[in-house]
Amino acid sequence: MFFVMGINDRREDIDFTQTVICDVCGSYGRYSVFMICSVLTLFFIPVFKWNKRYYVEMSCCHTLYELNSETAEALIYGDINEIRPEDLTLIKQNNHSYKRCTYCGYETEENFEFCPKCGNRF
Ligand SMILES: [Zn+2]
Ligand SMILES: [Zn+2]
Repeated sequence: MFFVMGINDRREDIDFTQTVICDVCGSYGRYSVFMICSVLTLFFIPVFKWNKRYYVEMSCCHTLYELNSETAEALIYGDINEIRPEDLTLIKQNNHSYKRCTYCGYETEENFEFCPKCGNRF
């Protein structure tokens, strides 16, 4: 008799989306929520999960937030249906902030005040 045991970190996506205006890049983005947890597997079947951490990634600029676990669990159980900014802690902000013109959609990493394509103010 022998056991095949293992411990891994695994990522599970949580089926929740919310469209928001991004604080970081200013464009419309979606929160995508996922969980990282440690999993004990026995014969490659997960038997125990612990150390759950929840994160939110912005679809627009891939800014990463940590989501407080009470809110995350309420979301999973369907008790709430939105994430508020105070539930999030910024972890990683994308280095190059880019601007996107709301009139023509032009994107630039330069710190222009006016859009070089259509001339409207960013
Ligand atoms: Zn963004
Ligand atoms: Zn423009």
